[in-house]
Amino acid sequence: MKEVLAIRRKLLVANWKMHKNISEAQAFCRRFLPEIEECDRADIAICPPFTLLTAVKGALGSSKVKLGAQNLFWEEKGAYTGEVSPAMLLDAGCEMVIIGHSERRHIFGETDEMINRKVKAALRNKLIPILCVGETLEERKKGQAEEVVKRQLLEGLRELEYDGEIVIAYEPVWAIGTGVNASPDDAQKMSFFIRQILKGIFPEEKVLEMRILYGGSVKPENITGFTGQPDVDGALVGGASLDPDSFAEIVRLSCYA
Ligand code: PEP
Repeated sequence: MKEVLAIRRKLLVANWKMHKNISEAQAFCRRFLPEIEECDRADIAICPPFTLLTAVKGALGSSKVKLGAQNLFWEEKGAYTGEVSPAMLLDAGCEMVIIGHSERRHIFGETDEMINRKVKAALRNKLIPILCVGETLEERKKGQAEEVVKRQLLEGLRELEYDGEIVIAYEPVWAIGTGVNASPDDAQKMSFFIRQILKGIFPEEKVLEMRILYGGSVKPENITGFTGQPDVDGALVGGASLDPDSFAEIVRLSCYA
């Protein structure tokens, strides 16, 4: 197990959602980058809104922090008002993209089928998809959490024709932005379950390399509980990633978990 863990570097992803303007984003990077300079044991990515991608890319400069997006559309180009293609994200310097975040599923009505098309489009364009899965509170109370996550994985990863890295983020909907995080034990149990499902989809060697993140009210005070679990390989962080000191602390603590 130790060898397997060694090949999965921790990954910390900031999801800024619909926050910050250009000068705030640049100020964030100026403060954040020196704080994480020493930490070379984890991968770090920032996913700002589309309007900030170019500015953040510039502010990140030659640092090791990667740029990601929060969404994409599956078509390459055309009459799709308001949408952004994978090629446009690549052009802006993105290396990864969040797909199927619960806010996309629940506020914007994204279905598993749409999410599957987005995952395929990301992989086709050599972007790393961060596929988000997770149950609502009602589903958890009814004992359906595993069933829901399994369906989201099987549908979201259906008939993939393309190879490449895929990251899964387990984000229980009831823990996102609520201040109520899942327990590290629950996060580990679900991440282990997710890995078992993935083994039915991909070759075992690939699954052992795949990173599974936990997301939902992660902050410096609770991060090590998650990253200390054998199947939790990092975190997708919303609110606490908006503050450079707090996100830097999450990164630093993860490096040594
Ligand atoms: C998220 O946006 O993916 C998230 C987990 O948000 P928060 O950390 O604020 O709960």
